[in-house]
Order: sequence, then C-alpha cells, then structure tokens
Amino acid sequence: MPEYRQNPLTREWIILSSERQTRPSEFLDQPARRDSAACPFCLGNEHETPEELVRYTSRGSKDAWSVRVVPNKYPAVTAAECTPVDRPECNDDCLFRAAPALGQHDVIIESPRHVVSLTDLTPAETELLFRAYRDRIAFHRAAGKARYVQAFKNVGPLAGASMEHSHSQLMALEQLPQNIQRDAAIAESYFRRTERSLLRAVVQGELAAGTRVVVQSDSYVAFCPFASRFPYEVCVVAENSGSPFDELQSGELGELAGIVREIIGRIERALGPVAYNYYLRPAPFDIASPRQYDWHIEIFPRLVKVAGFEWSTGIFINTVSPEAAAQTLRTSP
Ligand SMILES: [Zn+2]
Repeated sequence: MPEYRQNPLTREWIILSSERQTRPSEFLDQPARRDSAACPFCLGNEHETPEELVRYTSRGSKDAWSVRVVPNKYPAVTAAECTPVDRPECNDDCLFRAAPALGQHDVIIESPRHVVSLTDLTPAETELLFRAYRDRIAFHRAAGKARYVQAFKNVGPLAGASMEHSHSQLMALEQLPQNIQRDAAIAESYFRRTERSLLRAVVQGELAAGTRVVVQSDSYVAFCPFASRFPYEVCVVAENSGSPFDELQSGELGELAGIVREIIGRIERALGPVAYNYYLRPAPFDIASPRQYDWHIEIFPRLVKVAGFEWSTGIFINTVSPEAAAQTLRTSP
C-alpha cells in the first residue's frame, strides 16, 4: 500500500507506491497508438476501468457519456480501510518517519473519442471537464476527510503521461503538501498585513504592467509570471472573484475552460504539438478565510528537462523571458 516517507535531512515527504510500477505505459516500448479498440478509456471499453464514480453527458450528444470519472487502477494514495496501521510511534528525532498515504486518486476521462490534447476536446467536453474538477473538489470538501485536492493534467510522455487518451487526474490528500502549506502561509501573512489577497494584488500589478499578459476574458486573466520557472509558463486567474473553486457557477466554468483551451491552443500553434502539464491550485480546505488564497491554474509546455542544478538548489534556469513568451503567445495566430 502507498505510504509517505520523510527525508530527515530536509523534512520533505515522498510517496512510495510500488504498485504503480505495474501500470501499463503506452509510451515505453511501443509508439503511441490511436487504436480505440485497445484503449480502456475509449467508448465501448468502459468495463476495462474500475466502476465509474460519475459521468457527464453533453446536451445533444448521441454518446452515452462525454466525460467519466473513475478510480485510478494504480492509485498513489488510498483509503484508510486499505491501509495497515501497525506502524510504531515516531518521536521528533525519528530518522525513518512514515505515514500511510491516505486519500483518493481518480482519473477523469475527458472524451469518449480517442483524442490527445485539451484542444482536441469539443468546447462542451472541456466545460464538462472543468465541471468535474469543481464537483469532485466539492465532494471531497463535503466528505470531510481530505485537506487538499490536487487536479492536474499530463499530456505526452515527456510530461509524465502513461496513457495517450486525453485524461486528467485528481488526488484528494489527507496530508497537506508542504509547498501548498508554504504558499498558504505566505498568502495569509500578506492578507493579515494588507487585507488583500496576494494573488489579486499580483493580477492587478500584471494588468497595470501589461507586458506579460497573454489574454483576458470577462472574468479571467492569463499571464506569463514575472518569475516563470519554464519557457512559456502561463498562469490563469480570476480577475476579481474571491470564490473558492468549488463554488464556481456553470457560466464561470465554461469561460474558464475556454481560456485554458485558448492558451493551450496558442502554445501548440506557436511551438508545435508539445507535451505539457497544467494543474489547478485551489485553496486548502482548512484555510482561515477564502479571501486569503485565490485558486489559480498553472500551465507549462515541457520544452526543457529539469537538470542537476534545479534538482539540487530548487532554482530553475529559464532561457525565455516571460515578457518575450507573452509577446509570442499574444501574437500566436
Ligand atoms: Zn482511447
């Protein structure tokens, strides 16, 4: 069963999940294929995935479903009832601290058709995908076990995808990741001093500067962050609303899905069909006030490999300025 282990030198946690070794990869020893007969995520092969948790169907669609949420067959975190609890107590000086990796790991299958990128989805499928993110986060908040929900998408083997068929993953975690804890503490401290949300202040600053803004819709802004770690990294945020992600309404989700799709389309048109990741950063469930920490989405194409310097120091070397990246994406046809 998966477990957390802590490095005593850095206090960083890892998840040890040897079960995931057995998961199939379409990319390791064979070329990517687009054969729906052999793909467990394609329409008609539903029996090859664990029993679905929820399905969504686009209005007017002839297919039985448009988006499905299923448990991950190879979860990196698991429910308490699956986990043995015979671990001895660990004091402050413990060198080999471990804990069960508790939570729920889902896969969101984004289309009944065998497509690869978010830009291959129909606008209706993209909106339903974002509705699924919202509904699953709301579900886990109501269930009361998780402290944080991480939704993310990997496209292409260079971005860590093991399946070609367009999908996202969502992990409800009972332990709050350290970097989320750190970011929430920074945001809380800023809020205490200024009574403003830090991210809201950043967005206002970016809009005033203008040089790193890529696109803006009625409610959302997409910009290349001032200290982007990667070339063409883009952050998408709401311009004004301080609503938690799981309280967004359908219209807002449709608009957000549209702008994320638009950004990925611009990246693909500017750079070709690249591997990419994006993730949603909602607030931790136990944050004191939702006004302290605004959710946002970070998108980045995988153009460079993270190397020794970055692994050792945590400092990323970026070779494309965010101002140049924003200019390229703004003018991308
Ligand atoms: Zn497929």
